[in-house]
Amino acid sequence: MCFKSTIISLMFLIAHTSLSAAPICGQSGVWLQVLGSGGPEVDDGRASSSYVIWQEGRARLLIDMGGGSLPRFEQSGASPNDLDAILLTHLHVDHTNDLPTLIKASFFTGRDRDLPIYGPTGNQRMPSTTEFVQRLFGADGAFRYLQDYLDGTGRYRMLAEDVVSEDGKTTLVMDKEKFKLSAISVHHGPIPAIAWRVDIADTSLVFSGDMSNNRDVLWRLAAQTDMLVAHHAIPEQTNPVARSLHMPPSEIGKIAAKAKVKRVVLSHRMRRTFGKESESLSIIRKHYPGPVVFADDLQCFEIKK
Ligand SMILES: [Zn+2]
Repeated sequence: MCFKSTIISLMFLIAHTSLSAAPICGQSGVWLQVLGSGGPEVDDGRASSSYVIWQEGRARLLIDMGGGSLPRFEQSGASPNDLDAILLTHLHVDHTNDLPTLIKASFFTGRDRDLPIYGPTGNQRMPSTTEFVQRLFGADGAFRYLQDYLDGTGRYRMLAEDVVSEDGKTTLVMDKEKFKLSAISVHHGPIPAIAWRVDIADTSLVFSGDMSNNRDVLWRLAAQTDMLVAHHAIPEQTNPVARSLHMPPSEIGKIAAKAKVKRVVLSHRMRRTFGKESESLSIIRKHYPGPVVFADDLQCFEIKK
């Protein structure tokens, strides 16, 4: 082979590799991959909150999409074409900011089927999920140049839906052959927020999102699940404002124990918890004896029956 054709072959190989990266997680079974294990801070060395659920080597569900999660999505080998739905826990920027970047990116991957986007209802402080999507992509939206993904004239439509969850009751959002999605309204200060449960291929995962546990309902949604992804945004001792938004390690331990979950992953890690991992862990251990892992970006967890 001549030098020139070798170079061309190498260029093709590099281009091909970057376009269709193999998943870092396994090619078979169900996997949780953490795309963003951080919060809204700029100096935590982490992408903001985001998770992908893989099944048989395909990225089926995306939970939140905070800032920096799209490059992680790319690194994970996931394709926007494979997503069956996006689940939002709430609409703070560290959980939603890369949604527009994903929608734009899907143009270049040729996605051509509708994309459900489920999230919370609104209140005076926050828009509902449908209003949020409309204000981003609608005819008067900030990204109105992408409005064909809403009005039906594009290759696919975003199907935004507000998940109504009565106090303390679980809402069944989707029950399909492939998976079941359930949500429950949780307390995150004045911000409408929901926790998600995903039942997929005989396995089950729960995502707390940001919450204080003031309503004490998550344990019910998480009962007997294979994995609880709990947001560990504060240490045990913190100020009242942070405590009204987030749950301390003791609450995480109590929820995990009461729900009898098989495993706990601690994510949404923030600088105020850094260096206090062993303290947090020992507090959780007072209540919950099972496996507990601190999450990092791009980490994979196989979910077993
Ligand atoms: Zn957050």
